[in-house]
Amino acid sequence: MARDYYGILGVAAGASDQEIKRAYRKKARELHPDVNPDAEDEFKEVTTAYEVLTDPEKRRIVDAGGDPLAGPGGGGFGGDPFGAGGLGDIFQTFFGGGGGGFGGGRGPRGRVRPGEPALVGVTLDLEEIAAGARKEITVDTAVLCDTCTGSGTRDNSKPVTCATCHGAGEIQAVQRSFLGQVMTVRECPECRGVGETIPDPCLKCGGDGRVRSRRSMTVKIPAGVQDGMRVRLSGQGEVGPGGGPAGDLYVEVSEAADDVFVRDRDDLHCTVRVPMVDAALGTEITVDTVLGGTATVAVEPGTQPGTVVRVRGQGLPHLNSGIRGDLHAHLEVVVPKKVDQRQTELLESLRDAGEDTVELVTASSTAAAGGGLFSKLRNAFAGR
Ligand SMILES: [Zn+2]
Ligand SMILES: [Zn+2]
Repeated sequence: MARDYYGILGVAAGASDQEIKRAYRKKARELHPDVNPDAEDEFKEVTTAYEVLTDPEKRRIVDAGGDPLAGPGGGGFGGDPFGAGGLGDIFQTFFGGGGGGFGGGRGPRGRVRPGEPALVGVTLDLEEIAAGARKEITVDTAVLCDTCTGSGTRDNSKPVTCATCHGAGEIQAVQRSFLGQVMTVRECPECRGVGETIPDPCLKCGGDGRVRSRRSMTVKIPAGVQDGMRVRLSGQGEVGPGGGPAGDLYVEVSEAADDVFVRDRDDLHCTVRVPMVDAALGTEITVDTVLGGTATVAVEPGTQPGTVVRVRGQGLPHLNSGIRGDLHAHLEVVVPKKVDQRQTELLESLRDAGEDTVELVTASSTAAAGGGLFSKLRNAFAGR
């Protein structure tokens, strides 16, 4: 059930940040454990309500009728609100955590932590995408220090408890504020929150347990990948502090533009210029494909400009199934710009032999011929 955070602070649901802050300060003064040791639970409660209502994301959940602290890891009134990490920030701002009888502090955070993922890019041309490729990549990441194997210590020396924070990883200080004296807590600068220091650090990594390294490796990119896809190499990313487990390496694929083919998922498109006579008489055109072979594009006799011939199975393989897409050849019929004397005579006799005439296009004549241009034009101008 959602808790009434507004009610706990005694403000209306639409209260401004200022009103919430004012209400909280007033209650905190009355309930602060330094002032009123019996009111500890109530103090925690108003502090939690304040923390929720000043966090825009949490407040949004409250206003939607939910409870941002409900569910696993959410902390709450019954448990230890400091353990969930939610109250650390506010206590740093207002009271500091870990002081007196309220709050358990955060404690040292451990020297060995998991590493971050890393990202590199590779560029493949269509031939490589069609066949799949092995690409050499150079990766620059943190790797385990081989001198200390991640311990960060020199020879077999041992880390010692931090003298500054005595192993807590944080330092408490008393400060004056509007509430009187309050405790503040900050990360220990000596051990950076770890709670221990290495008096005799490894000479190679300086105690971090990892060093930066540039290395080359070969990555296998499967056939059919698309621009922007990533191949994940588990555990090949950044090694963590203290030699912690490495994150993953992601290899992002970029597709180089091709001179001939335009890709549409697994299909390829190309443009073929066909001389007028070949379009009229029909012919076969051989096209070099991205798969290393050739494809035959059949131009039927009487082919019109703009005809698209589909050649099945001459596209790219599908990433998962390997089934190949199609090649679409867009035919452009080319009329000769210059003709010599002999060609002129031939064309003239062709004109005399044929029955074709110049014709003004009508709606009915284009409908009979498949319909396109007339209605296209009409639609284009109708939009003006
Ligand atoms: Zn080392
Ligand atoms: Zn320390």
